[in-house]
Parts: sequence; C-alpha cells; structure tokens
Amino acid sequence: MLNIVIFGPPGAGKGTQSQLLIDQFNLIHLSTGDILRGEIAQGTELGIKAKSIMDRGDLVPDEVVIGMIRSILEKNPNAKGFIFDGFPRTTVQAESLDQMLNELNTSISTMLSLDVDVDELTKRLLERGKSSGRADDANESIIRNRIKEYNKKTAPLKKFYAKQNKLQSITGVGSVDSIYTKICEAIDQIK
Ligand code: AMP
Repeated sequence: MLNIVIFGPPGAGKGTQSQLLIDQFNLIHLSTGDILRGEIAQGTELGIKAKSIMDRGDLVPDEVVIGMIRSILEKNPNAKGFIFDGFPRTTVQAESLDQMLNELNTSISTMLSLDVDVDELTKRLLERGKSSGRADDANESIIRNRIKEYNKKTAPLKKFYAKQNKLQSITGVGSVDSIYTKICEAIDQIK
C-alpha cells in the first residue's frame, strides 16, 4: 500500500496536490477538513459542534477526527492506499494513526511536507477566501490563529516522522506542476 501524509501549514497546497496524487495513484483521499465541512453542510450534531471551533481557527478535539479516520479506514479494506490531508495534526493523532494502520498490517510510507512562508500563506488564504466561502479564510486574524495552531501543535510532527525516516520536505512555492514533479520524485525515492 502507498500511504502518504501530505503535510504543511494551511494554504500550503495540500488539497491541490492531493487531487493530482489520487488521480495518478488511485488512492483514497482523507481530508479531515473536507469531512468536517461536509458534516457542517449536513447540519449533523458533530458539524454543529465543530463549526464554532473551525470558524475560530482552533483544532477540533483529537477523538473526533480520529473516529472519522478510523471509520473510513475500516470501510476500505481493499484500498490501494490512502492520502492523509490535514491529518494528523497533533502527536496524539499521529500515534493513533500509526496504531490504526498497524492493526491493518500497513504503515505510513512517507510524509511529504510542503514548505511555504507565512506571508505567502496569508496571501493565498485571503485570495482563496474570496471564493471558498470559508469563514476561516476570510479574516486575517483567524488565518494568523490557524498558522499559530499549526506551529504549536502540528509542525512538531515533522520530527515524529523524521525519527521514523519518513519525512521528505518539498518547497511548496512555484507552479502547481513543478511542485507535483518534486512530489513524484519524492515518491519514487520510497518505491
Ligand atoms: P483544513 O481544511 O485542513 O484547513 O481544516 C479546516 C479546519 O478543520 C481546521 O482549522 C480545524 O479547525 C479543523 N480540522 C481539520 N482537520 C483537523 C485535525 N486533523 N485535527 C483537528 N482539527 C482539524
């Protein structure tokens, strides 16, 4: 199986690159942000609880997102692989993911970390906010909070995967295609 963690701060291009990867490698895309927004759109209890947290740019509780991932993994026993986009975001989530994959006799193949500086991220998110309709893209102080949460709770996961020799850092600036080429080269390294 090819199990990829696509990693990076909000606005790094994880979703865009994930789309290209799932088409080429036939992977199942697991974006916790997309799943949560789906819950909000459907007005579920989970969605109602998550909305105010997401609108502030904070992280939803670990057990909520871990439960969502567990249920999708269980429903796809014959998958060729998964691409984890926006998950894990904390050490607890990363440890749970290792454990869940271990139970399925598989593991993370690589973490592809997209590096983009703060000014560029803010610019991209504000631009995306004009059309995404996302409250958390529309306001600069919320964007700053999301980046702060990332630096505090999520960025340390690079060390977590580096210890397992799985971290590959990629510059996330340039054309979509040029970044995707670097991603494919990184995947070739592990094959
Ligand atoms: P994203 O679409 O990945 O930018 O996620 C949007 C928002 O959803 C985040 O700012 C969090 O509030 C929430 N979220 C998404 N994934 C996670 C996760 N793995 N852990 C906690 N909160 C998450």
